[in-house]
Amino acid sequence: PQVGTGGNSSNNVRVYVRTRPLLSQELENGAENILCVLPSDKQIIVKSSCDKVFKFEDVFDEDCPQHEVYRKTVAPLIAKVQEGYNATVFAYGQTGSGKTFTIGTDPCTAKEDEGLLQRAMHTILGDDREQDENEAPGASKSGYLSVSFMEVYNETVFDLLAPSRVSLEVKAGKGGGVSAIGMVEKQVHSVEEGLLLLEKGNSLRSVGSTAMNQHSSRSHALIYLNVKIGSRQGCLKLVDLAGAEGVGRAQTSGQSFMEGVAINKGLLTLGKVLAALSNSTTGYVPYRESILTRLLKDSLGGTSHTTMIACVNPASINMYETINTLTYAEQAR
Ligand code: ADP
Ligand code: MG
Repeated sequence: PQVGTGGNSSNNVRVYVRTRPLLSQELENGAENILCVLPSDKQIIVKSSCDKVFKFEDVFDEDCPQHEVYRKTVAPLIAKVQEGYNATVFAYGQTGSGKTFTIGTDPCTAKEDEGLLQRAMHTILGDDREQDENEAPGASKSGYLSVSFMEVYNETVFDLLAPSRVSLEVKAGKGGGVSAIGMVEKQVHSVEEGLLLLEKGNSLRSVGSTAMNQHSSRSHALIYLNVKIGSRQGCLKLVDLAGAEGVGRAQTSGQSFMEGVAINKGLLTLGKVLAALSNSTTGYVPYRESILTRLLKDSLGGTSHTTMIACVNPASINMYETINTLTYAEQAR
């Protein structure tokens, strides 16, 4: 972790924070916003007795539109992926903090609400409607795009583009990397086609849509965008992480406790991996300690680019989880 610098330029890990507005239901319940965002200082302050200050690559306040988050975090990565590099973007935070909204895991139709995923597909397929050249560095070249969609739940990988919900075996491959054997990869010619695949995948995530929020709070959703231009091949991985609530705290018992342990394993290992990558003096990176980090190994570290967007809920009732999220995110950079 580095304090007092605008970013750690010696590695390829970038950590951002995004706070969402209070929702009408929260306002009705008298929720108070305890976050003070200072975009020009790239700082966020938790207004509590300690007025703790956290500093990041950039901070996005509650009014920051989706296209601005995309322009600053993912657009520069598209150019890298088109050059043949791999990149991973994580949304981290407690349930209800805005991870799915930010990534765009649930496809939406309102243009201004489109998340990072939909915007990335527009750029890769060369049908950017809103960005001008200096906004999206990779916008000019269109290329071959294929999509994979998986879920990590209880340390098991499920393929969400297979005809039915099947678990995949994870095996070590060449170069120390790891692959999910038999993972479906579907070519996509248009954003609409990509969104249909996402919808299909989401329908395999859990049995009923009412259980969706509870399910997504316990599982990591991984979307791979494989891009080929000529002989160059790169992959952008977008990861809507499991809810971070309870990380660093003992939880309930029984089944949900086991699930919590498995989820924490992924989130805790990811935190350790990112901290090791950000700290050039650490030699050992504990990829092997969770399925999530094993799967993503070839897109974390080395010449890969890694971006984390920590999402926080501004209501005072969430102060404890918000401080936990900001602490985790600060340690990752
Ligand atoms: P998570 O995936 O972390 O559980 P969601 O993305 O589902 O959280 O967000 C929770 C709620 O907050 C949703 O109703 C979502 O539409 C809303 N929301 C999240 N981020 C924003 C934002 N930046 N602006 C407006 N509404 C948001
Ligand atoms: Mg979600």
